[in-house]
Amino acid sequence: MLRSTRPRSAGERDVVPVGIATVKSSTITAWMQEAAASVREQSDYLTQLDAAIGDGDHGTNMDRGFTAVGSALAGQDGDVPPGRLLILAGKTLVSTVGGASGPLWGTALRRAGRALGDEPEFGGDELVAALDAAIEAVVELGAAQPGDKTMIDALQPAADGLRASLADGADMVAAVAAAADAALEGAKATVPLQARKGRASYLGERSIGHQDPGATSAALLMRALAEAVSREP
Ligand code: ADP
Ligand code: MG
Repeated sequence: MLRSTRPRSAGERDVVPVGIATVKSSTITAWMQEAAASVREQSDYLTQLDAAIGDGDHGTNMDRGFTAVGSALAGQDGDVPPGRLLILAGKTLVSTVGGASGPLWGTALRRAGRALGDEPEFGGDELVAALDAAIEAVVELGAAQPGDKTMIDALQPAADGLRASLADGADMVAAVAAAADAALEGAKATVPLQARKGRASYLGERSIGHQDPGATSAALLMRALAEAVSREP
């Protein structure tokens, strides 16, 4: 769990954390709205990346899916717990996105939501567990390992970065920002890799030299989460 970075005075107990210790339903809604805006803004870029090593629909897929998620979550009562909102987001993605990324992200968000359960708020440890569950779901469904040039190459470094940052005593804002940085580095590091999963793998060695679209959008989603957490009142 999150610890204060402020030194304790003698005998002091139950220190209120300096940083944010928990996030709640409003953070999830803000995250998905930020994600929808970011994916829309970067839609052409994501599509270009996918045109180089796939079929050129990744920007459209993500835009359609997250726009639908934004609307679905906007209609929810403020009492719905964060985990339930993520499950709804996941279901919405599965039903609106036809490409590989729909079921993959849909399952990831659903499993992250299940990991959070019905608690009204969650902290760093729960976020780590939710991200781990999301990655496990993507691996179960798509069988990609790190280095296969997929979204896993952004998500795994994000999870590792989040865990390391929290272990160092960072608050949620700093830890999720570190996770987003790690995700972007991971996405950039897909350039020299040869794709071994998904459509890009059909290109064999010709997939080398291009950034993976799914890893790139995964980094956008992690950045959107960092933005949402940093705006938490
Ligand atoms: P499609 O490939 O069906 O057109 P998208 O273009 O929306 O779907 O998504 C492509 C992205 O999905 C890839 O860049 C990659 O990151 C991700 N992806 C594809 N297959 C897998 C897989 N088996 N495991 C993890 N991620 C995958
Ligand atoms: Mg595609």
